[in-house]
Amino acid sequence: IIHIENVHKWFGSVHALQGINLDILKGQVVVVIGPSGSGKSTLLRCINRLEEFDEGKIVVDGIPLDTAQNINAVRTEVGMVFQSFNLFPHLKVLDNVLLAQRVVRKRDKVESENKARMLLQKVGIPDKADYYPLQLSGGQQQRVAIARALAMDPKIMLFDEPTSALDPEMIQEVLDVMTDLAREGMTMVVVSHEMGFARAAADRAILMDSGQIIEEAPPDILFTHPTQERTKAFLSKIL
Ligand code: ATP
Ligand code: MG
Repeated sequence: IIHIENVHKWFGSVHALQGINLDILKGQVVVVIGPSGSGKSTLLRCINRLEEFDEGKIVVDGIPLDTAQNINAVRTEVGMVFQSFNLFPHLKVLDNVLLAQRVVRKRDKVESENKARMLLQKVGIPDKADYYPLQLSGGQQQRVAIARALAMDPKIMLFDEPTSALDPEMIQEVLDVMTDLAREGMTMVVVSHEMGFARAAADRAILMDSGQIIEEAPPDILFTHPTQERTKAFLSKIL
């Protein structure tokens, strides 16, 4: 469902992605790990074209990321959750989850509100609909962000370090929601160093360094029997 072929990205003289090749099948959950600055966020942002790439090809659900029209089409199919929840602070939780459904999916008020309440239930905070984001804990805010992304019925969900801004006691509640989503068959690309989540939910783990994919394996194998020196060096720092 995601085809990435020889993708290069430069920021000025920084060669942030150096020929990435990656194919992700429908329903797969891929965890991406790697040192700071290795290009993980850039790769994710290229998949929904929040970032332009300079060379290569990306095709999402059969749609090549080339024309403006195609880019818009892909964006409506791909949900993204960031480290910093990026909720609208002046809108209530319910309205945060409603807004894009109304604007992009053109759903009417009743339908979008029903959907929003169902999703708040799903992420475990049905009672927070009328709160403002800043009245919630970080873990609750991140779950709102997940609900908001899911409200668009995405075919693919991208997560960029969704738990790294959270206090430890709130990490698990967000990972639990993500694990449920994975079990339901959502296609997911997750930048995260949460090994427990990777082992429980991911089919594949990828180590990136210097804008390249260094190694890929099922999480258990990558974490316990890495073959590349750079993977070993990175794992020795985070484990
Ligand atoms: P981290 O773990 O710290 O989030 P990352 O693996 O996500 O790191 P990226 O954010 O993808 O790394 O950055 C890859 C490289 O591209 C880095 O060298 C970074 O400095 C550079 N870079 C990223 N975004 C920009 C930008 N908007 N302008 C200039 N350089 C950028
Ligand atoms: Mg990043």
